[in-house]
Amino acid sequence: MATNDSLWLPDGDLDAAHREFAQRIRAFAEEKLAPHARTIDEDRTFRRAMVADLATAGILGGPLAKELGGQGWTPLQLALAHEELGAVCGNARGFCAVQTGLVAQCLAKFGDDAQRARWLGPLVRGEAIGCFALTEPDAGSDVAGMRTTAQRDGSGWRVHGRKWWITNGGIADVMILFATVDPAQGRNGITAFLVDTKRPGLLRSPMPGIELGHRGSDHAVLDFDGFAVAGNEVLGPVGKGFGVAMGGLAAGRLSVAAGAVGIQRAALAAAVAFTTGRKQFGQALAAFQMVQERLADMLTSLHASRGLVHRCAMRRAAGTETHADVAMAKLYATEAAAKAADEAVMLHGARGYSSAFPVERLWRDIQALRIYEGTSMIQKGILGRMLAAE
Ligand SMILES: Cc1cc2nc3c(=O)[nH]c(=O)nc-3n(C[C@H](O)[C@H](O)[C@H](O)COP(=O)(O)OP(=O)(O)OC[C@H]3O[C@@H](n4cnc5c(N)ncnc54)[C@H](O)[C@@H]3O)c2cc1C
Repeated sequence: MATNDSLWLPDGDLDAAHREFAQRIRAFAEEKLAPHARTIDEDRTFRRAMVADLATAGILGGPLAKELGGQGWTPLQLALAHEELGAVCGNARGFCAVQTGLVAQCLAKFGDDAQRARWLGPLVRGEAIGCFALTEPDAGSDVAGMRTTAQRDGSGWRVHGRKWWITNGGIADVMILFATVDPAQGRNGITAFLVDTKRPGLLRSPMPGIELGHRGSDHAVLDFDGFAVAGNEVLGPVGKGFGVAMGGLAAGRLSVAAGAVGIQRAALAAAVAFTTGRKQFGQALAAFQMVQERLADMLTSLHASRGLVHRCAMRRAAGTETHADVAMAKLYATEAAAKAADEAVMLHGARGYSSAFPVERLWRDIQALRIYEGTSMIQKGILGRMLAAE
C-alpha cells in the first residue's frame, strides 16, 4: 500500500501563499529540528542552538507586527507554523509558544514604549529568553488564588512567593511575573510585572522529578525572597494583571491547539508508515480492516481538529473571535491528538514502547498540551458557562 501524505498535510486546502509558507516552515523543521528531536528528549537537555535557528528563520518574531521587528504573520500563518513545529519537535513548539506567544506578544500588547524598546528586539533575535511565571503550587487552574505578593517598597516593589512549572524559568533573561499587591482583592489585586531575572532575591531550581514529556525543555521552580521590582516594571496597570494573564493564555491557546494538530499528523504518518510496512499473518498490518478503521478515525479527527484551529484563526483575523472558538479548538485538538498518539503506540506494538520510534515521544508530549494554558476541563468550563448563560 502506498502512503499518501497529501491525505493529512494541510497543503491542498491552502492558497498558494499559505501553502508556500507551510512548506517553508516544514522544510526548516525537518532540516534544523528533526535531527535533534529525539536526542534532546533522551538527554533531557535544552538546546540553546535551537533558539538561534528559530530566530534566523524569523519564527521567533513571526506573529509580531513588522513595525515591532516581527514578520506580521496572520493567525492562520501562526497556526500553520505551529502545526509544522509540533509535528517535528514539541520542545521547539513549546518554546515558541512561551517566548513569542506569551512573553513577546503580551509585551507588545501591554508594554509601554520603554519596555518594548528594551526587550522585544532581543526576544525576537533570540538574544534574550523569556518566561511567563503564573502557576504556583497552590494556584494552578485557580489563577486568582495566587499567593505570591508584591509589596510596596519606595517607588518599587518587593516580591515574595513561589512559582513553579515555569517553562524557560531556569534560563530566562526576562520574565512576566504575576503577583498580588493585595490578596484581599482576589483577581483585582493581581498585577503583571516585566522584570530582568538577573537580580538578587530569586532562586531558580529545576522542577523536582522527571517530566513525562517535553524533556528537552526547561521547567523551573522560582522562589522569590524580597526580589526587587522597579516602579517602571509594571506591565499594564496595577491590579489589571489577571486580564494580562487571561489575554495572554487565550491568545496562546491557538498555538497549543495547532501544535496538537501537528502531533496528530505525526502520529498518523508514523502509524501509516509502520502498518503498511510491517507484515503479520502474511500481510501488511494496514490490510486488516480493524487497523484501517483506526487509521480512518485518526485521519478524520485530524481534519476535524485542523478545521477548528483554522476557523479560530480566521475569526481572530476578522476580529470576530470569541473565547469559545479557541476553547473548542484547544479542547478538541489536544484530546484528539492524545487519542491518536495512543492509537499510534498501539499500532506499533512493542516498537511503540521504545524511543527508537517517535510515537512514544508524541504520546508523552501530548499530555502536557491537555494541561497547560488551561486544562481540558477548564476549556469545557469556559464553554459550559457560555452556554448556560445564554
Ligand atoms: C510542561 C508544562 C509546562 C508548563 N509551563 C508553564 C509556564 O510556562 N508558566 C506557567 O505559569 N505555568 C506553566 N505550566 C503549569 C500549567 O499551566 C498548570 O499545570 C495548569 O494550569 C494546571 O494547574 P495545576 O497543575 O495546578 O492543576 P490543578 O489546577 O490543581 O488541576 C488538577 C486537576 O483538576 C482539574 N480542575 C481544576 N479546576 C477545575 C474545575 N473548576 N472544574 C473541573 N476540573 C478542574 C484540572 O482540570 C486537572 O485535571 C506548565 C505545565 C506543564 C505540564
